[in-house]
Amino acid sequence: MTALATYYKFSLNIMTKSYNLTETSKCVRCGACKASCPTYLTTNKETMGARGRVAMLGELDMERLAPTEVLAEMIYSCMLCGACKKLCPAGIDIPEVIYQGRAALRKAYSKGRLLKKALQLSSSGFDNIFSLLRWGQKLFYGSLYNSGVIGYVPEISSTPFKNDLQVYKTVNKTGRMAIFAGCSVNYFYPGLGQSLSHVLVSKGYEVVVFKGEVCCGAPFRSLGLEDEALKLAEKNIEHFNKVRAEAIISMCPTCTMVIRDQYPRMTGNTISNIMDVNEFLIRYDIASNLQIAPSVVTYHDPCHLSHGLGIRDKPRHILKNIKGIELVEMKHADDCCGFAGLFSMHFKDMSKSIGMKKISNISNTGADTVVTSCPGCIMQLEALRKETGSEFGIKHIVEVIDAAMHG
Ligand code: SF4
Ligand code: SF4
Repeated sequence: MTALATYYKFSLNIMTKSYNLTETSKCVRCGACKASCPTYLTTNKETMGARGRVAMLGELDMERLAPTEVLAEMIYSCMLCGACKKLCPAGIDIPEVIYQGRAALRKAYSKGRLLKKALQLSSSGFDNIFSLLRWGQKLFYGSLYNSGVIGYVPEISSTPFKNDLQVYKTVNKTGRMAIFAGCSVNYFYPGLGQSLSHVLVSKGYEVVVFKGEVCCGAPFRSLGLEDEALKLAEKNIEHFNKVRAEAIISMCPTCTMVIRDQYPRMTGNTISNIMDVNEFLIRYDIASNLQIAPSVVTYHDPCHLSHGLGIRDKPRHILKNIKGIELVEMKHADDCCGFAGLFSMHFKDMSKSIGMKKISNISNTGADTVVTSCPGCIMQLEALRKETGSEFGIKHIVEVIDAAMHG
């Protein structure tokens, strides 16, 4: 395709406007959003910061900027962490503007082409794709990792958590809860799903696991695949509507944020009983009177839990109330760990440089364990711990509760 034809195709995409960038016109260019933008603070470049991105997408919307590969790179380098959102005096939902910008620029972002194809294929059968990836991991991972071609990836589980058991029954039932596991728990950390099930069952709850759940859609939206994300949202909502449960509990704040905040905008349906595990533990008073072997613990705030869902105090409250835990705060606990899903694959150096600051802030506390509430953060922290030879333990808060209850 000639450059002219490519540009014409892009322009057609912009003219049909299957995205909405009108929010960008509210920007007053104050720059408040740059103050905590990790990609701006790492690069010191206006084009790699929140204000620059909003400005460039405004220009794209006005057709004064062409949808080039360079522009796409700057918009796709956003971590969608949401640290900028609360700082905007004009009330612009900057991460949502970025999602819309990616939908406008998805054809220009060539780095993501392969991944987009893989995701489009996987949307009809995640289990098959992960099963293939698992075999690939078994055969080639060791040599690819040793030669530095790919970074650390935890072992893909042979049985996704959702295939484990569909209903955990209890004898004296006090209620019925559902678990939305999400891809990272299903395929990489099924043990977290089992820990949550243990906790729920021992408190007398019957637990339902969604066998038919699909990806929440976050990786699809982050690649600009809005139509595919919408189909996934509709599929999940179908399952949510069928299940009778007081709460749908999620251990991944990205899934919770997408389902709670983005599904209503995407589908017109509100899922009012989706709950982050920390909210659940506090609301249902699950974590009081617990005791654990003495340990010094620090807590890392996942971006989508703190910036996205506004949950900061609850996990600290839970940890402080477990006898045996001494909670010490790290510096900049709510700074990103550098994972941000696909960002860690496409912008490896930046991801590592942001993550190294987190590793040093954790190490400086002298804590023996860092606790967090996100499987994605765990993945990044495990990778960097391996690389730096750090010795602290890494735990999801649900594992801490399970250990305190059951030893
Ligand atoms: S979402 Fe995060 S990385 Fe993206 S512009 Fe906002 S602060 Fe910067
Ligand atoms: S804080 Fe809001 S108004 Fe100010 S530059 Fe950023 S996006 Fe624009």
